[in-house]
Amino acid sequence: MRYSRLFLPTLKEVPADAEVVSHKLMLRAGMIRKLASGIYSCLPVGLMALRRVESIVREEMNAVGAQEVLLPMVQPADLWLETGRWEKYGKELLRFKDRHGRDCCLGPTHEEVITDLVRNEVRSYRDLPVTLYQIQAKFRDEIRPRFGLMRGREFLMKDAYSFDVDEEALDVTYKAMYRAYCRIFERCGLDFRPVEADTGTIGGHESHEFMVLADTGEDTIACCTRCQYAANVELAPVVEDRPFPPPAPGSRGEDRPREVATPGMRSVEEVTAFLNVAADRLVKTLVFTCEAGPVAALVRGDHALNEVKLKRLLGVDEVKLAGEDEVRGLTGAPVGFAGPVGLPAGVRVVADNALKDLKDFVCGANKKDAHLVGVNWGTDLPVPEFHDLRVITEDDPCPRCGERIELKKGIEVGHVFKLGTKYSEAMGATFLDAGGRERPVVMGCYGIGIGRTVAAAIEQNHDERGIIFPVPISPFKVIITVVNSKDQVMAEAGEEIYKGFLGRGIDVLLDDRKERAGVKFKDAELIGIPLRVTVGKRFKEAGQVELTMRRGGDTVSVPASQAVEEALGLLERA
Ligand code: ATP
Ligand code: MG
Repeated sequence: MRYSRLFLPTLKEVPADAEVVSHKLMLRAGMIRKLASGIYSCLPVGLMALRRVESIVREEMNAVGAQEVLLPMVQPADLWLETGRWEKYGKELLRFKDRHGRDCCLGPTHEEVITDLVRNEVRSYRDLPVTLYQIQAKFRDEIRPRFGLMRGREFLMKDAYSFDVDEEALDVTYKAMYRAYCRIFERCGLDFRPVEADTGTIGGHESHEFMVLADTGEDTIACCTRCQYAANVELAPVVEDRPFPPPAPGSRGEDRPREVATPGMRSVEEVTAFLNVAADRLVKTLVFTCEAGPVAALVRGDHALNEVKLKRLLGVDEVKLAGEDEVRGLTGAPVGFAGPVGLPAGVRVVADNALKDLKDFVCGANKKDAHLVGVNWGTDLPVPEFHDLRVITEDDPCPRCGERIELKKGIEVGHVFKLGTKYSEAMGATFLDAGGRERPVVMGCYGIGIGRTVAAAIEQNHDERGIIFPVPISPFKVIITVVNSKDQVMAEAGEEIYKGFLGRGIDVLLDDRKERAGVKFKDAELIGIPLRVTVGKRFKEAGQVELTMRRGGDTVSVPASQAVEEALGLLERA
């Protein structure tokens, strides 16, 4: 490709609405442009990077026997009604009616469609196992689309679905997929961790996420400093029998609760500062509403409630923090003053395990501008049910080996789930086993965000001058920078080397623009092409060109006739 012909509008300035580095650089390097919130157009160089990731994904999927299909993006509501997800999926599911008034949605995921396909075609155990995948645009009406391709509303996903005769066979498929995912992300040049994960709305019973470690990640993962344990904090259990460090000090011997005025003090920080108590003496009361009715969830002031754990405990898909009016209706007080003492009987009270031994604690008084101090379980209020309800911290031990854990930020680029028979039972996708009995197929599903993977690679591979693409996913492997394209001798040498690379099937960009050398160097660095061949003064003086690696900036001079061979060697070793 010739730069002079390439649609590659680079930007000098950082666009105002871009917060994270990958978003800024993808805009500046002319890879993407925003059309609407969370909806992006992909320009040639951006698309080339996406296609590189796609081909790695295809190769590894095909290698484990998965077969590519292309399913429709528009899906009829009927299928979603069969699984109950038409009601459950929430606002991320973009619903609309066609001209006949039939309910439809844009596919945010394809379990229903693929299960429908398989139930119509698979009859016998002889037709199994089968794994199908596609690479296609998904639409999720995300509440906070941001960070460019990282969290879009419309985005490219590779989604695969496996169908097996039983759990044992699913386990084999799942492990093969898991290994394929590791190879995919290794080949993309990413520093990643597979972690244990929650199964969320999609359901199922075993799941791993593939996390790219980066400070801008929206997920937090708990990694053991000794053993292999790594899990999304949404899931990581807090093991209370080995507290680490020991629990907060016990009773200070107050005999009964006392109401104290806390005018306008709503947050943990405000209340504890005002009353001069430590946050671990305060019981924070969070009021939620859900299908199962109102719930007051209690955690220590210095802990965070884990909504995933709460949802699992309640057996619901959604919990919603109660609004101002709901809180007032249930507690009689505005938000910020709720507490477990004297709540109406209809409110289920659930408390985090860390509160079990807490004595003489502080909590809201269910009264405007008031808190209670010196409260104790049993004497002042019924002992509630205790559960693991909080987000693990670095003070908690590894749930597997008891050693210290570290919390790290991660970007979820891939996710594998064992679905079991959740969808096949709901939709009647069955087969006849060897004994002639009808049984539901056992399913797994496996997703990779293509655009998010490119963005994550940029988060991990950049410097102040721009992107540093890992070789396997770089749009071009080589850029030839002709320092002065008006100079006939240099221009011809550039052409010659260009043809050499093309002859070897290398994706190469020839910067033949009539721009200043400085501009050309800057653009090459911004776009992040791994290797630059510079045709400049040294060519005219000594027939030599320079090969410069984008990562590290090492430069060697070689005779122009050897440029292609030398460059291929450097790329091989990169
Ligand atoms: P998240 O928790 O980040 O919202 P998810 O768990 O809902 O993602 P999955 O349903 O597991 O996502 O989708 C599979 C993969 O698709 C994810 O691992 C991620 O790489 C990608 N993905 C999901 N949502 C988005 C999005 N809004 N924009 C870009 N990629 C996405
Ligand atoms: Mg996920």
